[in-house]
Amino acid sequence: MKQMLWINGEKIETERYRPLTNPFNGEKIADVAEASQSDVVRAIDAAAGAARVMASMDAHKRADILRKVAELIQEEREECARLIAEESSKPLKAARAEVDRTIMTYTFASEEARRIQGETIPMDAAPGGEGRVAYTVKEPLGVISAITPFNFPMNLVAHKVGPAIAAGNSVVLKPASQTPLSAYKIAEYFQKAGLPAGALNVVTGSGKNVGDVLTSDDRIKKVTFTGSPAVGKHIRENAGLKRVTLELGSNSALIVDEGTDLQKVMPRIVTGAFSNQGQVCISIQRIFVHEAVAEEFTALFIEEAGKLKVGNPLDEDTDVAAMISAGDVERAKSWIQEAVGNGAELVLGGESDQQVLKPTVLLNAHPSDKISCEEVFAPVVHINTFSKFEDAITRVNESQFGLQAGVYTNDLQKAFKAARDLHVGGVMINEIPTFRVDHMPYGGVKMSGTGREGIKYAVEEMTELKLVSFKLD
Ligand code: NAP
Repeated sequence: MKQMLWINGEKIETERYRPLTNPFNGEKIADVAEASQSDVVRAIDAAAGAARVMASMDAHKRADILRKVAELIQEEREECARLIAEESSKPLKAARAEVDRTIMTYTFASEEARRIQGETIPMDAAPGGEGRVAYTVKEPLGVISAITPFNFPMNLVAHKVGPAIAAGNSVVLKPASQTPLSAYKIAEYFQKAGLPAGALNVVTGSGKNVGDVLTSDDRIKKVTFTGSPAVGKHIRENAGLKRVTLELGSNSALIVDEGTDLQKVMPRIVTGAFSNQGQVCISIQRIFVHEAVAEEFTALFIEEAGKLKVGNPLDEDTDVAAMISAGDVERAKSWIQEAVGNGAELVLGGESDQQVLKPTVLLNAHPSDKISCEEVFAPVVHINTFSKFEDAITRVNESQFGLQAGVYTNDLQKAFKAARDLHVGGVMINEIPTFRVDHMPYGGVKMSGTGREGIKYAVEEMTELKLVSFKLD
């Protein structure tokens, strides 16, 4: 299969193509277009033309297009899930869940398109403002560039394209090089749903080559990026006065207090640690357990993690499959070895077979080990103990990241204390940090990024507030 670029409502040839392989078995899936910088400029030209069409499109029409996209994905749910599983090695069960969430995200976007509204401003509240009627409107920004990662290739595209179209913008989308096919598929659905040509363009190619044009062209009014902190920082530094939303990584933590029903919560905690091979921005990486229950917790955790079925992502019962690249497996293994060298105890996993790293559990890793303080983005967790609840909060906050944190406790005082003192974008009480539904505000503090997604919140960041004031005689 040959995957061309998608520009101005058409498949466009380019000079270079790159073979795309399945991370689990190394088989070739497609030859994917590598856009040149002039291809990217052409995509921005198309988006700039379509921006005018989109800005004058009625809200109900934008809502209908987005709803239709959700319906088209629903009709081809299984095909979409298989595409995600093949290109990203996400186990089929998880890929289906991602498709279902993608449908929800476009559904929310469709609903949000109908309720983008301003407010009236009581100008006479200030001396000198008398005799005026004023109101605000939210206008689309124009052309938005969206750059997305490999780990949720369909739903994270939806979190950018959905609100952008809902608000009447046009988009140039650059998906991750390892997961381009699901993004091109979405462009097909938008065309079938009646989106004007040029309102959504998809360009693939190396992050640097394509990304730099998408970050620097003056016609781009906003860059919305999800990916690693290093690339996010580069984009922020090069975006000039453009708006920038950065959804970056983390080393998410979970606190488990004494009194927690461990049997009940364990399957959920294990899912939060190893789902999609730990390649989730809010995957559980650091666990802090009250010392009174630490032994029982660890035994149950290892037992539950040991039940995970490791294998081919296309097998129905697989829980953990290949990581995205051989280099990432090696990186994770070297971090595990570093922690063990510094005194951590390896109690499960640690070994790999080709690109599959077995679910790995360490005890008592040092806070300065990479496995603690960097984002591991692999099926690796470590369990540490605490005696005072406040100390656990301090340990969670001792991180350069702050996306979400989870806390299991039956003590209301402690729950409120955690909600107040945890320095993260979202605190999940009696839930894992990995919890997300697609309309909630979502984003991080510190190195985890700036701005919020969750359709309504993303729409805010993709519109410009205009004030209109009428002076009356
Ligand atoms: P990545 O390497 O940063 O890549 C993300 C995207 O940026 C890809 O499309 C990549 O293209 C592109 N890119 C690379 N270099 C670029 C440059 N110089 N300019 C512009 N774009 C460039 O991240 P990843 O490995 O795909 O994804 C994993 C990261 O994403 C983790 O850190 C994870 O925590 C984070 N993440 C965050 C969230 C969130 O909502 N906060 C959600 C999911 C993932 P290529 O693929 O062509 O290199």
